[in-house]
Amino acid sequence: MAEEKVENVVIVGSGPAGHTAAIYAARALLEPLMFEGFMAGGIAAGGQLTTTTEIENFPGFPDGIGGIDLMSRMRDQAERCGARIMTETIASVDLSSRPFAVTTKGGETFRTKTLIVATGAIARRLGVENEEKFWQRGISACAVCDGALPIFRNKRLVVVGGGDSAIEEAVHLTNFASEVLLVHRRDSFRASGAMQNRLKQNPKIKPVMNSTVVRAEGDKLLERVVLKDVLTDAETAVEAAGLFYGIGHKPNTDFLAGQLELNEAGYVITKPGTSVTSVAGVFAAGDVQDPKYRQAIVAAGSGAKAALDAERFLRE
Ligand code: FAD
Ligand code: NDP
Repeated sequence: MAEEKVENVVIVGSGPAGHTAAIYAARALLEPLMFEGFMAGGIAAGGQLTTTTEIENFPGFPDGIGGIDLMSRMRDQAERCGARIMTETIASVDLSSRPFAVTTKGGETFRTKTLIVATGAIARRLGVENEEKFWQRGISACAVCDGALPIFRNKRLVVVGGGDSAIEEAVHLTNFASEVLLVHRRDSFRASGAMQNRLKQNPKIKPVMNSTVVRAEGDKLLERVVLKDVLTDAETAVEAAGLFYGIGHKPNTDFLAGQLELNEAGYVITKPGTSVTSVAGVFAAGDVQDPKYRQAIVAAGSGAKAALDAERFLRE
């Protein structure tokens, strides 16, 4: 019987973290195999940046670069360095024995000495009426990414959520907006005390408690949102050029169930400052292990770390 091939490094996921890991692992002559996913988690191979337009904060592109363009350049670079890329989604892994087993949705199993998990996360959406029409035309899930766009300058903006992300987004948006309404569905915030203090100290943010957003309205760009008071069911339309979701993210870790230590929100737990997970030889990079920073450059940096950690593990 022919001996089963065992890979040095398998990378699951194809955002900035996965591609950077692939570039580093390929340059270390580890011949990495990447599974880029096929609409995994509902988004195209290339990850979250393929769902946006212009990226203005990724170094090296002084005039900005389109999200799809940036990701296709990363993919080209990974392939040119020698990474092999398969357009398959990983359905499950078995980390209980070595080499690890990685099984695609199509049912094919691959064996590997090390595994890099870089499957990212999906920003939760509210599903308000007209969300698709105004997505990236006023509605956004990333204030840090989109807040500085001209369409939001000196306008009233609305942020939804009551956690740290929502308050952080609201505070960030006060740099550009005339006023920020922070709409939360309950009468108290989930955010940390420190974050709530930042909120209280910022006169540009107006909390709107016990309320949800039910509808987005406008012509080509968002012009109004309709708020609903959850206690009275009364609806009020308010002028707003932007609607930002700060209602949390869902990491793409369902395929790891029971195999790797995850936190209560489903993020992979890594040893601080490294990509090391609870299983020796398994590394995690990017948004799948980072509920806090969630930026492409941070994900790319952590992908480099994961490849270096995998290389060191294989050497030792
Ligand atoms: P992701 O980009 O999430 O990619 C993970 C990939 O893995 C996805 O393609 C997914 O389909 C795939 N995958 C998932 N599960 C599997 C599986 N089981 N098998 C195979 N593949 C799988 N950041 C910035 O720095 N600047 C910006 O301007 C900016 N704009 C943004 C705009 C929007 C609308 C959003 C949503 C995010 C934005 N971000 C921005 C954040 C940035 O996109 C993320 O921080 C970054 O993409 C995270 O990279 P990642 O490699 O961890 O994962
Ligand atoms: P959280 O899950 O903490 O908060 C999500 C918020 O969105 C909650 O207030 C929730 O309401 C609300 N929400 C969820 N779904 C809906 C919905 N369908 N409609 C209306 N509101 C909704 O997510 P975060 O992203 O804020 O934080 C995640 C983790 O990251 C936390 O541990 C946080 O501390 C950390 N973080 C830390 C930061 C920092 O320290 N600078 C910055 C950002 C995040 P409800 O409260 O009613 O459940």
